[in-house]
Amino acid sequence: MDKTSPVHAPMSQFAVAGDELMIGGEPVSRLAARVGTPFYAYDRGLLSKRVAELRQALPAAVKLHYAMKANPMPALVAHMAGRVDGIDVASAGELKVALDAGAEPAEISFAGPGKREAELSAAVAAGILVNLESFREIGLLAGISQQLGLPARVAVRVNPDFELKASGMKMGGGPKQFGIDAEAVPQALAEIGKAGLAFEGFHLFAGSQNLKPEAIVEAQQKSFELALRLAQDAPAPVKVLNLGGGFGIPYFAGETRLDIAPIGANLAQLAERAKTALPQAELVIELGRYLVGEAGVYVTRVLDRKVSRGQVFLVCDGGLNHHLAASGNFGQVIRKNYPVAIGNKMDATAREIASVVGPLCTPLDLLADRMELAPAEPGDLVVVFQSGAYGASASPQAFLSHPPVAEILVG
Ligand SMILES: *Cc1c(COP(=O)(O)O)cnc(C)c1O
Repeated sequence: MDKTSPVHAPMSQFAVAGDELMIGGEPVSRLAARVGTPFYAYDRGLLSKRVAELRQALPAAVKLHYAMKANPMPALVAHMAGRVDGIDVASAGELKVALDAGAEPAEISFAGPGKREAELSAAVAAGILVNLESFREIGLLAGISQQLGLPARVAVRVNPDFELKASGMKMGGGPKQFGIDAEAVPQALAEIGKAGLAFEGFHLFAGSQNLKPEAIVEAQQKSFELALRLAQDAPAPVKVLNLGGGFGIPYFAGETRLDIAPIGANLAQLAERAKTALPQAELVIELGRYLVGEAGVYVTRVLDRKVSRGQVFLVCDGGLNHHLAASGNFGQVIRKNYPVAIGNKMDATAREIASVVGPLCTPLDLLADRMELAPAEPGDLVVVFQSGAYGASASPQAFLSHPPVAEILVG
């Protein structure tokens, strides 16, 4: 082990001017004065920049989708819809936002276990692609297709026979509620053919929050091989091969940004092979967190400064009710601190050890545990970085009945 303690990756995506963190070109205290605290702010310029960087690293033949469950704010989805090649939705509610945002129905896909019949019906009526996750959905879609006189467009979501290594959240391999087990896919394909559904391809999503390019490359290679094997039993040529994503961002001390160059190089090889092996197929990757996570911050104001038996607590007007993930209660095994700063004291050189807590009556409401921060007073603004994904919509906002959090798109 290195003797120096690990540090957070630099949050240099945001400028600093006159002691203030700048978000979308505006000082954080101005934004706070405009919308009140607490709030999330997402930077349009950073969202666009991330898409442009990815386009640069990925072969042109690979389509880039935004998985909007990472951040379903309508204005943000509209911004993304104009920049990516498609939107992945996980409910009829998200489908409505995607369509309202101007996404092309032909380029929307719908994955998720437990789709309600009304949701499947909405998907067929909208003309989007349904990623089938069970035999039940095949039967339901057959009925809906007949009723609407419109064959459902379907891809089979495959639960692969391998796992994504080093992934923060595994969503494929072994027994899973997602997708159809690879070994059962030939039977599903036969039923899709019999039911007269419009088969378009396969969807594989092995996991989320991966920071190891070699693990992502391996998962994409294995997914590709598996799809080639399964395609032999398909009732129609494969038009779409969605290889998932799972690209991570650095949250915790010691983590570094994902190197996407090897992933792009591997996808270029796969795209080349697809030309002969699956000549009608378009390769797709779908990303949520990686596209939006680093472009957003959560901002909460210090209400109280307490010292309890020598330990400093900055008590703020928001906490886990708005940002469950930063509190460490959204799938983390061991709680670690997100990158946090005092957003209106960015030039301060003095440091103290302080804990940042929210207003809830539970010890789980912790945004920073004994971190080195600029000394802060009531009125100062705590900024939690890496907060553009799985923030507001992934938090229990009704818990303790505080006001909901504001969300703004800036820049
Ligand atoms: C959640 C999800 C994503 C997005 O995952 P990220 O880690 O945010 O990139 C993509 N595809 C599917 C099927 C998902 O369920």
